[in-house]
Amino acid sequence: MPPTSIPGPTPTYEDYARCVHCGLCLSACPTYRLWNLEADSPRGRIHQMIHVFQSDLYDHAPPSVPISDTFVDHIDKCLDCRACETACPSGVEYGKLVEHARARIERDYERPWLARVTRNFIFRDFLSTPHLIEDAARLLRLYQRSGLQTIARSMGILKLLGLAERDRLLPRIDDNFFFTRLGETFPAAGPRRTRVAFFVGCIANVAFSELNEATVRVLTANGCEVVVPKNQLCCGALSVHSGFREAARELARKNLAAFPLEDFDAIITNAAGCGSTLKEYDHLFSADEPEHTQARAFAAKTRDVTEFLAALGLTAKLNPLRHRVTYQDSCHLLHGQKIREAPRTLLRAIPNLDFVELPYSEICCGSAGIYNVTQTEASMELLAEKMRHTQSTGAQTIVTANPGCVLQLRAGVSLHNTNQNVLHIVELLDRCISS
Ligand code: SF4
Ligand code: SF4
Repeated sequence: MPPTSIPGPTPTYEDYARCVHCGLCLSACPTYRLWNLEADSPRGRIHQMIHVFQSDLYDHAPPSVPISDTFVDHIDKCLDCRACETACPSGVEYGKLVEHARARIERDYERPWLARVTRNFIFRDFLSTPHLIEDAARLLRLYQRSGLQTIARSMGILKLLGLAERDRLLPRIDDNFFFTRLGETFPAAGPRRTRVAFFVGCIANVAFSELNEATVRVLTANGCEVVVPKNQLCCGALSVHSGFREAARELARKNLAAFPLEDFDAIITNAAGCGSTLKEYDHLFSADEPEHTQARAFAAKTRDVTEFLAALGLTAKLNPLRHRVTYQDSCHLLHGQKIREAPRTLLRAIPNLDFVELPYSEICCGSAGIYNVTQTEASMELLAEKMRHTQSTGAQTIVTANPGCVLQLRAGVSLHNTNQNVLHIVELLDRCISS
């Protein structure tokens, strides 16, 4: 029986051939910087993809080779940070290529049993089912608040099990979940300038409720009426990045139905990872599929909160803050959405703020979706380097634009005892407005 095709658009030979092997992306690639191995560079990975998928790409090609453990290993080790896209002068759309490679791996390669079952559960079921997220969050909250976590840490149990670093990466579960806010509308403070829909994410509902509340406060303070559509679900980023394309398409279909576009001027997200996927919803569907047009319109209305506020212009009074901060670019904001200036513009708008640029802020912190869980060692090496740079700035606070990066950097502060604060940029603005 022929294998089922991967749904949605498939990269063509021209997409791969755009890579002219110039190597200009090498120094931008975090994994190449770590290991100096061609096979773990963008160019090397594209070369492997062509080799493995060749019979699909051009006529009279030799048969494709089976997907090997080595190929899977090099593709798994890619952060999908897309720094190579920013560096590439030939316009290689590497994100599309690696996502297709991962979908092929999920279809044609048999991972070990436990990995297969876990991945299927997380990417197909867990992320798309709010009550499963709530149940898991309640259990985790019990572990964190009952004293079990403190005991496990102090007795060295986590170290013994090799889980000490992963434990630091766990989000602190909120007292109140943002799920209860779904379906609410928040009026603008003062005259209404615009009406927006707020895309709140999935895990963020249980681990970043405060950030979501702060986002609503900052938007309303700046004249936005904020609607939180009730039936929205996870954006599908984690699924599509991991090769679960149909699961991501199903989530996209539900979100397309949950956001009546004519009712809003924009769809706002505070998560760069989600925003990057929402802005590419049309890439999930082929041009001849019925969802494609709506997905394009949805993508065109999506804005990162920093991009939106910088373009709208801040009208809420910002109180001065005598404080040194530095800014870590989130890969899916900088490389995925090409947004560099908007967050910096917002930081510079805060009176008296001492904003210092972070060396190598364009290099991934090692968070990258669930990379820090699946490739913990590499992730921790990238984080250690990142924390060295944040310390060199003398900043008391590290600001970023993606909840995943916030978690990773907080783990970095804790593991490396840097005594710094980590905030999403919206939380910093919120403090300046309400102080
Ligand atoms: S910069 Fe672009 S064209 Fe050059 S090797 Fe990297 S991916 Fe290929
Ligand atoms: S996406 Fe990031 S880790 Fe992957 S090849 Fe490109 S630069 Fe390297």
